[in-house]
Parts: sequence; structure tokens; C-alpha cells
Amino acid sequence: MSSNASNEPRIAGRHFLQIPGPSPVPDRILQAMAMPVLDHRGPTFQKLGHRVLDGIKTIFKTEQPVIIYPASGTGAWEASLINTMSPGDKVLMYETGHFAFLWQELAKKLGLVPETIESDWRHGVDAAKIEERLRADTDHEIKAVCVVHNETATGATSHIDKVRAAIDAAGHPALLIVDTISGLGSADYKHDEWGVDVTISGSQKGLMLPPGISFNAVSDKALAAAAKATLPKSFWGWEEMIANNKNGFFPYTPATNLLYGLAEAIDMLHEEGLDNVFARHQRHGEATRRAVNTWGLEILVQDPSVYSPVLTAVLMPEGHNADAFRDVVLKNFDMSLGTGLSKVAGKVFRIGHLGDINDLTLVGALSGVEMSLGLAGVPHSKGGVQAAMEYLAETAPQTR
Ligand SMILES: *Cc1c(COP(=O)(O)O)cnc(C)c1O
Repeated sequence: MSSNASNEPRIAGRHFLQIPGPSPVPDRILQAMAMPVLDHRGPTFQKLGHRVLDGIKTIFKTEQPVIIYPASGTGAWEASLINTMSPGDKVLMYETGHFAFLWQELAKKLGLVPETIESDWRHGVDAAKIEERLRADTDHEIKAVCVVHNETATGATSHIDKVRAAIDAAGHPALLIVDTISGLGSADYKHDEWGVDVTISGSQKGLMLPPGISFNAVSDKALAAAAKATLPKSFWGWEEMIANNKNGFFPYTPATNLLYGLAEAIDMLHEEGLDNVFARHQRHGEATRRAVNTWGLEILVQDPSVYSPVLTAVLMPEGHNADAFRDVVLKNFDMSLGTGLSKVAGKVFRIGHLGDINDLTLVGALSGVEMSLGLAGVPHSKGGVQAAMEYLAETAPQTR
């Protein structure tokens, strides 16, 4: 932006950050954060503390406490487990993709015993498999069921209400712990109505903030489990957090300027209306898929009922490397697309369509993909952008 020590030529315009998080931060949020750092134990902060602690509940759709950590999403993942579990506890984890896999690895490092339900990384959570496993667990050894709501590695948004129903149908007492780090603020989420015990989220995806804060929404049942759980914890402990939060404060220094941004983000989501926000993301997902289908490329996820409104993962044709393609996009059009992670590295690129994106941003992003398919010599049919534009025009909101 300012100094250019490397003498690289200036690139005009805004970088297109079309990865599935971090998502572009709107100017309103950047400006809201440009505030002097304040005393986090003083009365001005207290108002901000109450504002964000109350406000964030409306985004999780909960009346229960939401804890805000100065950490990336991974910290809140860890917090969800160390507050509720004891050494050696068995947790049932559904591997929808790379993020679900990473969460399992984290659980192992904490001394838990994850049992994995494998998948082909091309579908969402099959709740029937969870029900079957829980029914067989007659001794109730499984202490928690862990699922990722929006699997950011593949673009599958699972039905959390069905997972709840499966646990209830099995009559099993396990906690339901859900990662919606990349779903919250883009795909509808109902912590209370879906009976989730711990919901994990982060700042830099649907909430349109820079990275650096993350969340645990907790149920009464999760708090009761926490009272008995014996994994060691200090920084992540809920109890002190909730006690301090009652007065609008935190037990240690919160990420004060990110909280200014969070207050603004919550306002912006409600000004647009949460249902409108979710509908916008659904339209953008559908427009993107129409473009991909017209290009003749394959969408990674094979079950349309779990197509993600947050991102679309696209398979490269045989013999073409997705990262080489992403490089062409970046060098020619200054746009970042998401890389393929682990099992699908080099095979998949991901188009993020989450956060502060409008129709023209999306059309711009899809244009960059279509032009680059040509430049990179990837076999495809033209007209994907046209198909996306037609759909966006047909479904354009006429209400302005
Ligand atoms: C981004 C993401 C994470 C990891 O969050 P960090 O902020 O990078 O620590 C975990 N789970 C999902 C589903 C994600 O999208």
C-alpha cells in the first residue's frame, strides 16, 4: 500500500481476497477499529464489553453465554474440548474434510481419544451414522459428538438439526460440539434451537473481521460438564470468563480494537437483516455453481443438499495443477483463491463467496477465474460468467 522497498510495480485497485476466510474487511469495520487503545478495566470499555457480549448472542441465536477469546479459531476449538472433557475421554468426530481432521489431531494432542467416522470428503455429515454408533455405545463411553457445520476444505454445510435429532433418537447423553468457524454470519445458525452444547466460531470469515478473536457459545449442559471436567486449563477456562463477563469485563486483556470491529459487524449484519445476509450468500453460491457447471468443471461436493453458501471447491481436470492455476490468477488479476488442503492438494481450488461480497464483486471474481482458465490452458467451455450474471439478474433484489 505505502512503502515499496522491493521496487515491484504498483498494482492498481483492491486485491480480490476470494479465499474462504479471511474474508475482505469492509471499510466501515476498519474505521470502527481505528480507535485509541483504551483501559480495558474502565467504564468506557465496560459499555463496549456489554455491547459485544450481548450483541454476539443474536448472531449465534442464543440466550446463553458466548465467550470471546483473543485467539484464532483454533484456540476456541481447544477451549471447547478442554473445558468439557477429562483425560482419556472418547469423542466421536465426523471427518467431513481437512478441518474436521485437524480438530481430531488437536483432540489427540489434548489426551482425548477421538473415534472417527470417515467420509470421502465430498459429502456432509450423515446423521444416521452418528445415530447408529451412539446406539451401540450402551455404556455411554462417548462424551461428545464433534461436527463441523461448514467444512471449509470441501464446501459442505451439514445439517446440524439432523445431528441433534440423531443424538436424541439414540437417547445418548453425549454433548454436541459444533465448529461453525466459517459458517457463522454466512449460513444460518441456531445454537439454542438446534440444542448445540458448545458452538465454536471465529472472527475472520462470515463476521468480516480481521483474524484474532474467536468464540465458544455454551449451553447449561456444557457448563455442567465443565464443572466436572478435569483436563488442565487456565487461559481458556470458562468459569472466570463468564464471571467477569457478567460485568462487561474480561479476566485478562481482550482484543479491544477487534471488539470495536465486532460491535460494528453485528450492527451491519442486523442492518442488512440476517435472513437477507443468508439469502445473499445462497444466491452467490448458486451463481458460482452455475459458472462452474457451464465451464464444464466438477464441483467437489456431490450432494446438492449440502452445497455451501460460503465457498465452492472446484476439481481441476486431470493433468492440471490447481495451485499452478491459482498462481496464474494471482499474477494476472491480483486475486487470491483458496488452495486445496492435504488430500485434495493440487487437485482443488476454492472460490470464497463469503462475508462482505456483492453481486459485482462475485462477477469480478468469476471473471478472473474464467479468464485464467483460458490463460492457463485448462480445457473448459466459455460462458460461465454469463450464466452467473443471468442468474444474479433474474434473482436481483428489487427492493432498493
Ligand atoms: C478457519 C477454520 C478453522 C481454523 O481457524 P483459525 O482461525 O485458522 O485458527 C477451523 N475450522 C474451520 C471450519 C475453519 O474454517
